[in-house]
Amino acid sequence: METHPHYIQGKWTRATGGKTFHSLNPATGKSIGTFSAGTSKDVEKAIEAAEKAFSAWSETPAPKRGDYLFEISRLLRKNKEKLATRMTEEMGKVLKEARGDVQEAIDVFEYMGGEGRRLFGQTTPSELKQKIAYTIRKPIGVVGIITPWNFPLAIPAWKISAALIGGNTIVFKPSSDTPRCAYDLMKIIEEARIPKGVVNMVTGSASEVGNPIVESPRIRGLSFTGSRETGKWIMQHAGIKKIGLELGGKNPIIVMDDADLDLAVDGILWGAFGTTGQRCTAASRVIVHQKIRNQLEEKLVKRTTQLKLGNGLDKKTDVGPLINEKAVEKSIYYSALGRKEGKLVCGGKPLDTPGFFFEPTIFTNVKQSARIAQEEIFGPIIAIIPVKNLNEAIKVCNHTEYGLSSSIYTRNIRNAMQAIEKIEAGITYVNASTIGAEVHLPFGGIKQTGNGTREAGIEGIHEFTETKTVYIDYSGKLQKAQGIE
Ligand code: NAP
Repeated sequence: METHPHYIQGKWTRATGGKTFHSLNPATGKSIGTFSAGTSKDVEKAIEAAEKAFSAWSETPAPKRGDYLFEISRLLRKNKEKLATRMTEEMGKVLKEARGDVQEAIDVFEYMGGEGRRLFGQTTPSELKQKIAYTIRKPIGVVGIITPWNFPLAIPAWKISAALIGGNTIVFKPSSDTPRCAYDLMKIIEEARIPKGVVNMVTGSASEVGNPIVESPRIRGLSFTGSRETGKWIMQHAGIKKIGLELGGKNPIIVMDDADLDLAVDGILWGAFGTTGQRCTAASRVIVHQKIRNQLEEKLVKRTTQLKLGNGLDKKTDVGPLINEKAVEKSIYYSALGRKEGKLVCGGKPLDTPGFFFEPTIFTNVKQSARIAQEEIFGPIIAIIPVKNLNEAIKVCNHTEYGLSSSIYTRNIRNAMQAIEKIEAGITYVNASTIGAEVHLPFGGIKQTGNGTREAGIEGIHEFTETKTVYIDYSGKLQKAQGIE
Protein backbone atom coordinates (compact mmCIF):
# COMPACT_ATOMS: atom_id res chain seq x y z
CA MET A 1 0.00 0.00 0.00
CA GLU A 2 1.50 3.35 -1.02
CA THR A 3 2.03 5.84 1.81
CA HIS A 4 0.27 9.17 1.49
CA PRO A 5 2.88 11.95 1.89
CA HIS A 6 2.91 15.40 3.49
CA TYR A 7 2.41 18.46 1.29
CA ILE A 8 5.25 20.94 1.88
CA GLN A 9 6.49 23.75 -0.40
CA GLY A 10 4.19 22.47 -3.16
CA LYS A 11 5.81 19.02 -3.07
CA TRP A 12 4.59 15.64 -1.84
CA THR A 13 7.17 14.50 0.70
CA ARG A 14 7.63 11.53 3.03
CA ALA A 15 8.00 11.96 6.79
CA THR A 16 11.52 12.42 8.16
CA GLY A 17 12.32 9.04 9.65
CA GLY A 18 9.87 7.28 7.32
CA LYS A 19 7.33 6.21 9.94
CA THR A 20 3.72 5.65 8.92
CA PHE A 21 0.28 5.14 10.43
CA HIS A 22 -3.05 3.73 9.24
CA SER A 23 -6.44 5.34 8.84
CA LEU A 24 -9.28 2.89 9.53
CA ASN A 25 -12.75 2.61 8.06
CA PRO A 26 -14.90 2.68 11.22
CA ALA A 27 -17.67 0.66 9.57
CA THR A 28 -15.32 -2.30 9.02
CA GLY A 29 -12.32 -1.64 11.27
CA LYS A 30 -10.05 -2.17 8.21
CA SER A 31 -7.29 0.12 6.99
CA ILE A 32 -8.05 2.45 4.08
CA GLY A 33 -4.45 3.57 3.65
CA THR A 34 -1.12 4.44 5.23
CA PHE A 35 0.00 7.99 5.96
CA SER A 36 3.24 9.74 6.82
CA ALA A 37 3.79 10.04 10.56
CA GLY A 38 5.44 13.45 10.71
CA THR A 39 7.98 14.74 13.22
CA SER A 40 9.01 18.15 14.50
CA LYS A 41 11.55 18.26 11.61
CA ASP A 42 8.70 18.07 9.11
CA VAL A 43 6.89 20.82 10.98
CA GLU A 44 10.05 22.97 10.77
CA LYS A 45 10.21 22.41 7.01
CA ALA A 46 6.55 23.36 6.66
CA ILE A 47 7.03 26.53 8.71
CA GLU A 48 10.04 27.46 6.60
CA ALA A 49 8.05 26.98 3.39
CA ALA A 50 5.17 29.07 4.77
CA GLU A 51 7.56 31.84 5.85
CA LYS A 52 9.15 31.95 2.40
CA ALA A 53 5.77 32.14 0.68
CA PHE A 54 4.36 34.79 3.01
CA SER A 55 5.57 38.02 1.47
CA ALA A 56 4.39 37.26 -2.10
CA TRP A 57 1.05 35.85 -0.93
CA SER A 58 0.26 38.66 1.50
CA GLU A 59 1.09 41.22 -1.21
CA THR A 60 -1.16 39.50 -3.75
CA PRO A 61 -4.29 41.71 -3.98
CA ALA A 62 -7.10 40.19 -1.94
CA PRO A 63 -9.52 39.96 -4.93
CA LYS A 64 -6.85 37.93 -6.73
CA ARG A 65 -6.45 35.69 -3.67
CA GLY A 66 -10.21 35.32 -3.87
CA ASP A 67 -9.92 33.95 -7.41
CA TYR A 68 -7.85 31.03 -6.09
CA LEU A 69 -10.57 30.34 -3.53
CA PHE A 70 -13.26 30.33 -6.23
CA GLU A 71 -11.17 27.78 -8.12
CA ILE A 72 -10.88 25.55 -5.03
CA SER A 73 -14.65 25.81 -4.59
CA ARG A 74 -15.21 24.84 -8.24
CA LEU A 75 -12.93 21.81 -7.96
CA LEU A 76 -14.59 20.68 -4.73
CA ARG A 77 -17.96 20.89 -6.48
CA LYS A 78 -16.66 18.94 -9.47
CA ASN A 79 -15.41 16.16 -7.17
CA LYS A 80 -18.26 16.32 -4.66
CA GLU A 81 -19.54 12.76 -4.98
CA LYS A 82 -16.07 11.21 -4.91
CA LEU A 83 -15.03 13.27 -1.90
CA ALA A 84 -18.23 12.43 0.00
CA THR A 85 -17.84 8.71 -0.68
CA ARG A 86 -14.23 8.73 0.47
CA MET A 87 -15.25 10.67 3.58
CA THR A 88 -17.86 8.05 4.46
CA GLU A 89 -15.23 5.34 3.99
CA GLU A 90 -12.79 7.14 6.25
CA MET A 91 -14.98 8.39 9.10
CA GLY A 92 -18.31 6.64 8.75
CA LYS A 93 -20.63 9.62 8.26
CA VAL A 94 -23.79 8.59 6.38
CA LEU A 95 -23.26 9.48 2.70
CA LYS A 96 -25.91 12.21 2.50
CA GLU A 97 -24.37 13.91 5.55
CA ALA A 98 -20.91 13.56 3.99
CA ARG A 99 -22.29 15.35 0.90
CA GLY A 100 -23.38 18.14 3.27
CA ASP A 101 -19.87 18.33 4.69
CA VAL A 102 -18.39 18.70 1.19
CA GLN A 103 -21.09 21.25 0.29
CA GLU A 104 -20.11 23.34 3.32
CA ALA A 105 -16.50 23.34 2.12
CA ILE A 106 -17.65 24.38 -1.39
CA ASP A 107 -19.76 27.18 0.09
CA VAL A 108 -17.16 28.56 2.46
CA PHE A 109 -14.45 28.77 -0.22
CA GLU A 110 -16.95 30.57 -2.45
CA TYR A 111 -18.04 32.91 0.36
CA MET A 112 -14.50 33.73 1.49
CA GLY A 113 -13.44 34.21 -2.17
CA GLY A 114 -16.05 36.98 -2.39
CA GLU A 115 -14.72 38.55 0.79
CA GLY A 116 -11.53 39.29 -1.15
CA ARG A 117 -13.44 42.21 -2.70
CA ARG A 118 -14.54 43.47 0.71
CA LEU A 119 -12.16 42.87 3.66
CA PHE A 120 -13.75 45.97 5.11
CA GLY A 121 -12.15 48.22 7.67
CA GLN A 122 -13.80 51.26 9.29
CA THR A 123 -13.59 54.89 8.32
CA THR A 124 -14.44 57.44 10.97
CA PRO A 125 -14.07 61.19 11.55
CA SER A 126 -11.01 62.32 13.48
CA GLU A 127 -11.21 64.56 16.57
CA LEU A 128 -9.07 67.04 14.67
CA LYS A 129 -9.46 69.14 11.57
CA GLN A 130 -7.81 68.03 8.33
CA LYS A 131 -7.10 64.57 9.65
CA ILE A 132 -8.69 61.29 8.66
CA ALA A 133 -8.75 57.97 10.47
CA TYR A 134 -9.47 54.46 9.28
CA THR A 135 -8.60 50.83 9.85
CA ILE A 136 -7.28 48.14 7.53
CA ARG A 137 -7.03 44.37 7.98
CA LYS A 138 -3.56 42.85 7.84
CA PRO A 139 -2.52 39.18 7.75
CA ILE A 140 -1.09 37.64 10.91
CA GLY A 141 1.74 35.78 9.16
CA VAL A 142 2.30 32.02 9.28
CA VAL A 143 -0.69 30.40 10.96
CA GLY A 144 -1.12 26.91 12.38
CA ILE A 145 -4.39 25.09 11.73
CA ILE A 146 -5.24 21.99 13.79
CA THR A 147 -8.52 20.21 13.12
CA PRO A 148 -10.66 17.32 14.44
CA TRP A 149 -12.02 14.39 12.45
CA ASN A 150 -15.80 14.95 12.68
CA PHE A 151 -16.03 17.50 9.83
CA PRO A 152 -12.93 16.42 7.97
CA LEU A 153 -13.44 18.77 5.01
CA ALA A 154 -15.72 21.53 6.29
CA ILE A 155 -13.66 22.53 9.33
CA PRO A 156 -10.30 22.64 7.49
CA ALA A 157 -12.13 24.55 4.73
CA TRP A 158 -13.54 27.16 7.16
CA LYS A 159 -10.10 27.81 8.55
CA ILE A 160 -7.99 27.53 5.39
CA SER A 161 -10.33 29.77 3.35
CA ALA A 162 -10.40 32.52 6.00
CA ALA A 163 -6.64 32.32 6.55
CA LEU A 164 -5.94 32.54 2.80
CA ILE A 165 -8.24 35.45 2.06
CA GLY A 166 -6.67 37.27 5.01
CA GLY A 167 -3.25 36.88 3.32
CA ASN A 168 -1.70 34.32 5.69
CA THR A 169 0.31 31.24 4.86
CA ILE A 170 -0.49 27.95 6.52
CA VAL A 171 0.86 24.90 8.35
CA PHE A 172 -2.04 22.46 8.61
CA LYS A 173 -2.24 19.38 10.81
CA PRO A 174 -5.39 17.29 10.28
CA SER A 175 -6.77 14.72 12.70
CA SER A 176 -4.98 11.36 12.65
CA ASP A 177 -8.41 9.74 12.19
CA THR A 178 -9.05 11.51 8.88
CA PRO A 179 -5.75 12.11 7.06
CA ARG A 180 -7.15 10.94 3.72
CA CYS A 181 -9.84 13.62 3.61
CA ALA A 182 -7.07 16.15 4.30
CA TYR A 183 -4.94 14.59 1.56
CA ASP A 184 -7.88 14.93 -0.87
CA LEU A 185 -8.25 18.61 0.06
CA MET A 186 -4.52 19.23 -0.51
CA LYS A 187 -4.78 17.57 -3.94
CA ILE A 188 -7.48 20.08 -4.83
CA ILE A 189 -5.48 22.99 -3.43
CA GLU A 190 -2.56 21.86 -5.59
CA GLU A 191 -4.81 21.59 -8.65
CA ALA A 192 -6.08 25.13 -8.00
CA ARG A 193 -2.43 26.24 -8.38
CA ILE A 194 -2.17 28.01 -5.06
CA PRO A 195 1.46 29.22 -5.04
CA LYS A 196 4.00 26.83 -3.52
CA GLY A 197 4.43 27.04 0.23
CA VAL A 198 1.21 28.98 0.85
CA VAL A 199 -0.58 25.90 2.19
CA ASN A 200 1.48 23.11 3.78
CA MET A 201 0.17 19.96 5.41
CA VAL A 202 1.95 17.67 7.87
CA THR A 203 0.12 14.52 9.00
CA GLY A 204 0.94 12.70 12.22
CA SER A 205 0.33 12.53 15.92
CA ALA A 206 -0.63 15.23 18.41
CA SER A 207 2.70 14.94 20.22
CA GLU A 208 5.03 14.74 17.19
CA VAL A 209 3.26 17.22 14.90
CA GLY A 210 0.61 19.06 16.93
CA ASN A 211 2.82 20.12 19.85
CA PRO A 212 5.59 21.65 17.75
CA ILE A 213 3.02 23.69 15.81
CA VAL A 214 1.44 24.96 19.02
CA GLU A 215 4.76 25.76 20.68
CA SER A 216 6.61 27.32 17.75
CA PRO A 217 7.20 31.06 18.17
CA ARG A 218 7.43 31.27 14.37
CA ILE A 219 3.72 30.38 14.14
CA ARG A 220 2.07 33.74 14.71
CA GLY A 221 -1.55 32.62 14.85
CA LEU A 222 -3.20 29.34 15.73
CA SER A 223 -6.69 28.12 14.96
CA PHE A 224 -7.76 24.97 16.74
CA THR A 225 -10.97 22.96 16.80
CA GLY A 226 -11.18 19.96 19.11
CA SER A 227 -11.77 18.91 22.67
CA ARG A 228 -11.74 21.19 25.70
CA GLU A 229 -8.84 19.24 27.22
CA THR A 230 -6.64 19.87 24.17
CA GLY A 231 -7.80 23.50 24.10
CA LYS A 232 -6.62 23.97 27.68
CA TRP A 233 -3.26 22.40 26.88
CA ILE A 234 -2.87 24.75 23.93
CA MET A 235 -3.62 27.82 26.03
CA GLN A 236 -0.91 26.79 28.46
CA HIS A 237 1.76 26.02 25.87
CA ALA A 238 1.23 28.29 22.86
CA GLY A 239 2.98 31.38 24.20
CA ILE A 240 1.96 34.80 22.97
CA LYS A 241 0.18 34.41 19.66
CA LYS A 242 -3.30 34.99 18.32
CA ILE A 243 -5.30 31.88 19.24
CA GLY A 244 -8.77 30.74 18.21
CA LEU A 245 -10.28 27.81 20.11
CA GLU A 246 -13.51 26.04 19.10
CA LEU A 247 -14.17 23.34 21.67
CA GLY A 248 -16.88 21.00 22.91
CA GLY A 249 -20.57 21.32 23.72
CA LYS A 250 -23.41 19.88 25.77
CA ASN A 251 -26.20 21.29 23.70
CA PRO A 252 -29.80 21.43 24.93
CA ILE A 253 -33.14 21.24 23.16
CA ILE A 254 -36.02 22.68 25.20
CA VAL A 255 -39.45 21.31 24.32
CA MET A 256 -42.29 23.42 25.74
CA ASP A 257 -45.83 22.20 26.39
CA ASP A 258 -47.10 24.23 23.39
CA ALA A 259 -44.57 22.76 20.94
CA ASP A 260 -45.36 20.87 17.75
CA LEU A 261 -44.20 17.52 19.15
CA ASP A 262 -43.66 15.77 15.82
CA LEU A 263 -41.48 18.64 14.66
CA ALA A 264 -39.58 18.51 17.96
CA VAL A 265 -39.03 14.75 17.61
CA ASP A 266 -37.68 15.26 14.07
CA GLY A 267 -35.29 17.89 15.43
CA ILE A 268 -34.14 15.78 18.38
CA LEU A 269 -33.43 12.76 16.18
CA TRP A 270 -31.44 14.85 13.71
CA GLY A 271 -29.58 16.76 16.43
CA ALA A 272 -28.83 13.78 18.66
CA PHE A 273 -28.11 10.98 16.22
CA GLY A 274 -26.94 12.76 13.04
CA THR A 275 -23.23 11.94 12.57
CA THR A 276 -23.88 9.42 15.39
CA GLY A 277 -23.94 12.24 17.94
CA GLN A 278 -20.37 13.19 17.02
CA ARG A 279 -20.90 16.89 16.37
CA CYS A 280 -19.83 19.73 18.60
CA THR A 281 -23.39 21.01 18.13
CA ALA A 282 -25.07 17.64 18.73
CA ALA A 283 -28.15 17.76 20.97
CA SER A 284 -27.31 15.73 24.06
CA ARG A 285 -29.82 17.13 26.59
CA VAL A 286 -33.57 17.24 26.00
CA ILE A 287 -35.22 19.55 28.52
CA VAL A 288 -38.90 18.81 28.36
CA HIS A 289 -41.98 20.38 29.96
CA GLN A 290 -43.46 17.79 32.31
CA LYS A 291 -46.98 18.21 30.84
CA ILE A 292 -45.99 16.71 27.49
CA ARG A 293 -43.09 14.60 28.69
CA ASN A 294 -44.78 11.19 28.37
CA GLN A 295 -46.11 11.95 24.89
CA LEU A 296 -42.73 13.21 23.70
CA GLU A 297 -40.84 10.29 25.17
CA GLU A 298 -43.18 7.77 23.59
CA LYS A 299 -42.83 9.30 20.13
CA LEU A 300 -39.07 9.72 20.52
CA VAL A 301 -38.38 6.17 21.67
CA LYS A 302 -40.58 4.74 18.92
CA ARG A 303 -38.76 6.68 16.19
CA THR A 304 -35.31 6.00 17.71
CA THR A 305 -35.79 2.23 17.77
CA GLN A 306 -36.69 2.41 14.06
CA LEU A 307 -33.32 3.97 13.13
CA LYS A 308 -31.15 1.64 11.11
CA LEU A 309 -27.48 1.38 12.06
CA GLY A 310 -24.99 0.42 9.41
CA ASN A 311 -22.33 1.37 6.90
CA GLY A 312 -22.87 4.99 5.81
CA LEU A 313 -22.52 3.94 2.18
CA ASP A 314 -25.65 1.79 2.44
CA LYS A 315 -28.67 3.86 1.31
CA LYS A 316 -30.86 2.35 4.04
CA THR A 317 -28.54 3.44 6.88
CA ASP A 318 -29.77 6.19 9.19
CA VAL A 319 -26.92 6.12 11.74
CA GLY A 320 -23.31 5.22 10.95
CA PRO A 321 -20.52 3.96 13.20
CA LEU A 322 -18.56 5.84 15.85
CA ILE A 323 -15.10 6.96 14.79
CA ASN A 324 -13.00 4.36 16.62
CA GLU A 325 -12.76 1.74 19.37
CA LYS A 326 -12.05 4.40 22.00
CA ALA A 327 -15.31 6.17 21.15
CA VAL A 328 -17.24 2.90 21.59
CA GLU A 329 -15.60 2.38 24.98
CA LYS A 330 -16.59 5.92 25.97
CA SER A 331 -20.23 5.30 25.01
CA ILE A 332 -20.20 2.00 26.96
CA TYR A 333 -18.80 3.83 29.97
CA TYR A 334 -21.44 6.58 29.87
CA SER A 335 -24.23 4.07 29.29
CA ALA A 336 -23.23 2.23 32.46
CA LEU A 337 -23.19 5.56 34.28
CA GLY A 338 -26.55 6.51 32.78
CA ARG A 339 -28.16 3.37 34.18
CA LYS A 340 -27.30 4.71 37.65
CA GLU A 341 -28.15 8.35 36.96
CA GLY A 342 -31.42 7.86 35.05
CA LYS A 343 -33.70 5.32 33.43
CA LEU A 344 -32.65 3.65 30.18
CA VAL A 345 -35.55 3.69 27.71
CA CYS A 346 -33.79 2.82 24.50
CA GLY A 347 -30.46 1.42 23.20
CA GLY A 348 -27.52 1.31 25.57
CA LYS A 349 -25.08 -1.17 24.01
CA PRO A 350 -22.57 -1.65 21.19
CA LEU A 351 -23.36 -3.88 18.21
CA ASP A 352 -21.70 -7.25 18.12
CA THR A 353 -20.46 -6.78 14.54
CA PRO A 354 -17.19 -5.66 12.95
CA GLY A 355 -16.69 -1.88 13.05
CA PHE A 356 -17.45 0.59 15.82
CA PHE A 357 -21.23 0.68 16.27
CA PHE A 358 -23.27 1.80 19.26
CA GLU A 359 -27.06 1.93 19.51
CA PRO A 360 -28.85 5.29 19.68
CA THR A 361 -29.51 5.57 23.40
CA ILE A 362 -31.97 7.55 25.55
CA PHE A 363 -31.96 8.04 29.30
CA THR A 364 -34.87 9.71 31.03
CA ASN A 365 -35.51 11.06 34.55
CA VAL A 366 -32.04 12.55 34.52
CA LYS A 367 -31.10 15.31 36.98
CA GLN A 368 -29.42 18.44 35.64
CA SER A 369 -26.26 17.76 37.66
CA ALA A 370 -25.87 14.13 36.52
CA ARG A 371 -22.58 13.45 34.76
CA ILE A 372 -24.39 12.22 31.63
CA ALA A 373 -26.08 15.65 31.54
CA GLN A 374 -22.84 17.55 32.11
CA GLU A 375 -19.99 15.82 30.27
CA GLU A 376 -19.52 15.71 26.51
CA ILE A 377 -19.99 12.07 25.45
CA PHE A 378 -19.63 12.60 21.69
CA GLY A 379 -21.76 9.55 20.93
CA PRO A 380 -25.43 8.72 20.27
CA ILE A 381 -26.60 9.19 23.86
CA ILE A 382 -29.13 11.72 25.17
CA ALA A 383 -30.45 12.63 28.59
CA ILE A 384 -34.06 13.72 29.06
CA ILE A 385 -34.54 16.20 31.92
CA PRO A 386 -38.14 17.04 32.89
CA VAL A 387 -38.95 20.61 34.04
CA LYS A 388 -42.01 22.51 35.30
CA ASN A 389 -41.80 25.75 33.30
CA LEU A 390 -39.68 27.92 31.02
CA ASN A 391 -37.70 29.51 33.84
CA GLU A 392 -36.61 26.14 35.11
CA ALA A 393 -35.88 24.99 31.54
CA ILE A 394 -33.55 27.95 30.99
CA LYS A 395 -31.85 27.36 34.35
CA VAL A 396 -31.20 23.73 33.44
CA CYS A 397 -30.09 24.80 30.01
CA ASN A 398 -27.46 27.13 31.45
CA HIS A 399 -26.33 24.66 34.11
CA THR A 400 -23.30 23.56 32.07
CA GLU A 401 -19.74 24.67 31.55
CA TYR A 402 -20.26 24.68 27.78
CA GLY A 403 -22.12 27.20 25.62
CA LEU A 404 -22.16 26.32 21.94
CA SER A 405 -25.59 25.60 20.44
CA SER A 406 -29.13 25.49 21.85
CA SER A 407 -32.69 25.15 20.68
CA ILE A 408 -36.27 25.69 21.81
CA TYR A 409 -39.44 24.21 20.38
CA THR A 410 -42.47 26.37 21.16
CA ARG A 411 -45.38 28.07 19.39
CA ASN A 412 -45.33 30.94 21.87
CA ILE A 413 -43.33 33.98 20.76
CA ARG A 414 -42.74 35.08 24.37
CA ASN A 415 -41.14 31.75 25.24
CA ALA A 416 -38.98 31.96 22.13
CA MET A 417 -37.84 35.53 22.78
CA GLN A 418 -37.06 34.86 26.43
CA ALA A 419 -35.03 31.81 25.48
CA ILE A 420 -33.06 33.79 22.89
CA GLU A 421 -32.33 36.42 25.52
CA LYS A 422 -31.43 34.17 28.44
CA ILE A 423 -29.82 31.02 27.08
CA GLU A 424 -26.05 31.14 27.48
CA ALA A 425 -24.84 29.88 24.11
CA GLY A 426 -23.21 31.15 20.92
CA ILE A 427 -26.14 29.89 18.83
CA THR A 428 -29.89 29.57 19.55
CA TYR A 429 -32.33 27.94 17.14
CA VAL A 430 -36.10 28.33 17.41
CA ASN A 431 -38.18 25.39 16.15
CA ALA A 432 -35.10 23.87 14.55
CA SER A 433 -32.47 21.46 15.82
CA THR A 434 -29.11 22.42 17.33
CA ILE A 435 -27.25 21.82 14.08
CA GLY A 436 -27.26 23.51 10.70
CA ALA A 437 -24.72 26.35 10.69
CA GLU A 438 -24.55 28.46 7.51
CA VAL A 439 -21.18 29.67 6.26
CA HIS A 440 -22.02 33.38 6.02
CA LEU A 441 -22.91 33.64 9.72
CA PRO A 442 -20.50 33.51 12.64
CA PHE A 443 -20.11 30.18 14.40
CA GLY A 444 -18.73 29.57 17.89
CA GLY A 445 -19.51 29.31 21.55
CA ILE A 446 -19.15 30.95 24.93
CA LYS A 447 -18.02 29.73 28.37
CA GLN A 448 -15.74 26.67 28.07
CA THR A 449 -16.63 26.13 24.41
CA GLY A 450 -13.99 28.57 23.30
CA ASN A 451 -12.06 31.75 23.87
CA GLY A 452 -14.40 34.14 22.15
CA THR A 453 -13.37 33.84 18.52
CA ARG A 454 -15.87 33.00 15.79
CA GLU A 455 -15.47 31.08 12.57
CA ALA A 456 -17.20 31.60 9.21
CA GLY A 457 -18.87 34.85 8.21
CA ILE A 458 -16.95 38.09 8.49
CA GLU A 459 -15.92 37.28 12.06
CA GLY A 460 -14.10 34.24 10.67
CA ILE A 461 -11.81 36.65 8.82
CA HIS A 462 -11.19 38.62 12.01
CA GLU A 463 -9.74 35.45 13.55
CA PHE A 464 -7.12 35.42 10.82
CA THR A 465 -6.30 39.12 10.52
CA GLU A 466 -4.95 41.91 12.66
CA THR A 467 -6.43 45.39 12.70
CA LYS A 468 -4.16 48.31 11.82
CA THR A 469 -5.34 51.83 12.63
CA VAL A 470 -4.20 54.60 10.30
CA TYR A 471 -4.24 58.38 10.95
CA ILE A 472 -3.43 60.82 8.15
CA ASP A 473 -2.93 64.44 9.09
CA TYR A 474 -3.02 66.77 6.06
CA SER A 475 -3.21 70.04 8.04
CA GLY A 476 0.51 70.72 7.60
CA LYS A 477 0.96 71.59 11.28
CA LEU A 478 1.47 69.74 14.57
CA GLN A 479 -1.96 68.82 15.92
CA LYS A 480 -2.23 67.10 19.29
CA ALA A 481 -5.08 64.74 20.17
CA GLN A 482 -7.06 64.96 23.44
CA GLY A 483 -7.23 68.75 23.14
CA ILE A 484 -3.62 69.32 24.21
CA GLU A 485 -2.57 72.88 23.22
P1 NAP B 1 -8.95 16.36 19.95
O1 NAP B 1 -8.57 15.04 20.50
O2 NAP B 1 -8.79 17.54 20.81
O3 NAP B 1 -8.09 16.51 18.61
C1 NAP B 1 -8.27 17.58 17.71
C2 NAP B 1 -7.00 17.81 16.93
O4 NAP B 1 -5.98 18.25 17.81
C3 NAP B 1 -6.44 16.55 16.26
O5 NAP B 1 -5.82 16.92 15.06
C4 NAP B 1 -5.40 16.07 17.28
O6 NAP B 1 -4.39 15.27 16.70
C5 NAP B 1 -4.85 17.40 17.75
N1 NAP B 1 -4.26 17.40 19.09
C6 NAP B 1 -4.62 16.68 20.18
N2 NAP B 1 -3.85 17.01 21.23
C7 NAP B 1 -2.98 17.97 20.81
C8 NAP B 1 -1.95 18.72 21.42
N3 NAP B 1 -1.62 18.56 22.70
N4 NAP B 1 -1.27 19.62 20.67
C9 NAP B 1 -1.59 19.83 19.38
N5 NAP B 1 -2.55 19.13 18.74
C10 NAP B 1 -3.25 18.23 19.44
O7 NAP B 1 -10.46 16.35 19.43
P2 NAP B 1 -11.19 15.28 18.49
O8 NAP B 1 -11.50 14.06 19.27
O9 NAP B 1 -10.46 15.14 17.21
O10 NAP B 1 -12.55 16.06 18.15
C11 NAP B 1 -13.68 16.01 18.95
C12 NAP B 1 -13.80 17.28 19.78
O11 NAP B 1 -13.83 18.41 18.92
C13 NAP B 1 -15.10 17.34 20.56
O12 NAP B 1 -14.85 17.83 21.84
C14 NAP B 1 -15.95 18.32 19.75
O13 NAP B 1 -16.95 18.96 20.49
C15 NAP B 1 -14.90 19.27 19.27
N6 NAP B 1 -15.38 20.02 18.11
C16 NAP B 1 -15.64 21.35 18.29
C17 NAP B 1 -16.14 22.09 17.22
C18 NAP B 1 -16.44 23.56 17.35
O14 NAP B 1 -16.48 24.24 16.35
N7 NAP B 1 -16.64 24.06 18.56
C19 NAP B 1 -16.35 21.47 15.97
C20 NAP B 1 -16.05 20.11 15.85
C21 NAP B 1 -15.56 19.39 16.93
P3 NAP B 1 -4.52 13.66 16.60
O15 NAP B 1 -5.76 13.39 15.80
O16 NAP B 1 -3.27 13.28 15.92
O17 NAP B 1 -4.62 13.15 18.01
